Amino acid sequence: MTIRPILTVPNPILKEVSKPVEAVTDDTRKLMDDMVESMYAANGIGLAAVQIGEPVNVIVMDLARDGEPPNVKYFVNPEILEDVEALKPYEEGCLSVPDVFDTVERPERVQITYLDYNGARVTEWAEGLYAVCIQHEMDHLKGIVFIDYLSRLKRERAVKKVVKAEKLKAAG
Ligand code: ZN
Repeated sequence: MTIRPILTVPNPILKEVSKPVEAVTDDTRKLMDDMVESMYAANGIGLAAVQIGEPVNVIVMDLARDGEPPNVKYFVNPEILEDVEALKPYEEGCLSVPDVFDTVERPERVQITYLDYNGARVTEWAEGLYAVCIQHEMDHLKGIVFIDYLSRLKRERAVKKVVKAEKLKAAG
């Protein structure tokens, strides 16, 4: 397993629309393993493949709290089948927009279908943090980052902050 660098805004790859995976193979599993390593290394709870530069419909997630055993979920070709209309606000962050947090409103429950690590079909309802996270990650597959929902001013400020921080990091 390899820790891969996570792309940050305004990298144009993050705007790409990811492609469906034809079949869950060992290559797909290798990608998912790398994604989990990269997500843990960055202290994240969710990661879309495009965030490490692979625009394919793959997501990993681990919503276990500190002190709980790891609980990784893998999503290949996830789709939303149904959502409830009620919107719920949640303060979101993103590994591609480090140290920026803001409130986004999303449907509070969604029914999703996807293929798991072994290629088996799973269909289930997600709610709470799970619902927030899966919708946030599925947005990445469409080239949408959560700051795209904010005002233009807030979005530009967020990108500036990330660019500045990345420059400092590169300068060591
Ligand atoms: Zn994100």
